[in-house]
Amino acid sequence: MFSYHVIKRVVMLAILLCSFSVAGLASAERIKVVTSFTILADMTRQVAGVHADVVSITRPGAEIHGYQPTPQDLVQAIDADLLIYNGLNLEQWMDQFLQHLGDIPSVRISAGIAPISIDAGVYAGKANPHAWMGLENANIYIDNIADALSDIDPQNKTHYMTNASQYKARLSEQILPLKADIAALPEHARWLVTCEGAFSYLAADLGMKELYLWPINADSRATPQQVRRVIDHIRLHDIPAIFCESTVNTAPAEQVASETGIHYGGVLYVDSLSVEGGPVPSYEDLIVVNVNTIKQAIDSGLAKTQNE
Ligand SMILES: [Zn+2]
Repeated sequence: MFSYHVIKRVVMLAILLCSFSVAGLASAERIKVVTSFTILADMTRQVAGVHADVVSITRPGAEIHGYQPTPQDLVQAIDADLLIYNGLNLEQWMDQFLQHLGDIPSVRISAGIAPISIDAGVYAGKANPHAWMGLENANIYIDNIADALSDIDPQNKTHYMTNASQYKARLSEQILPLKADIAALPEHARWLVTCEGAFSYLAADLGMKELYLWPINADSRATPQQVRRVIDHIRLHDIPAIFCESTVNTAPAEQVASETGIHYGGVLYVDSLSVEGGPVPSYEDLIVVNVNTIKQAIDSGLAKTQNE
């Protein structure tokens, strides 16, 4: 993936950076944490507060499963005190990336979650990687982040633990009332139909049934068979709305909506935050915006079928 010359340059840079950090050890330093994608970066910032600089390798809006790291990404990560990634086969580029980084401490932040299996396609039976979309799992991620930060920066452990528990309380306060909104919808309408099968954990949290065009972004785009299967299910169950995600081509979902006459509910966010100032600059915003979008689209879809 990387040429000898690029790797040599990165190693030279690392040596240079190490000598700088030895020189700066006497001052109260912020630790540097690199995460694989923007959602983990936000969660880590919430827990770290003022004690860390946090950088995401993939940018807002990027496709994260099959990402191709650049030499600049290696440079960005090589002086990190900690690298945080999701695991569960989310970042298919991570093993090779970690090999190039040598012995930087890295943490698979999904450790300890209860995985939901993918139910179709070549990944059937494997864990669905999008575990952060469920509230209980998000709490486990946050605890794991607090533990990982405390391990490399024990002086600030109390700070990390306090931030983590305040963050978890804030998320629960925001998200739990939204579940009641979804529960108030008619049962037959509680379907979450999306492009990627990335919403198993959110659907389970919200008491919704799940249907998707393709199981995992890394290797599938909607085949005619996948489109047909979703259209058949929509007609069979009288499903009122379909959604797609911000990081992929929404055309197949819009095609399904126009072919079935159901409401196209717009984009949901799962694999990436938006830029600062966009609709979902934080994980908290991401869940709130998603659930509100789902609720409003299903209401519109139901109104549409009633008027026909
Ligand atoms: Zn995904």
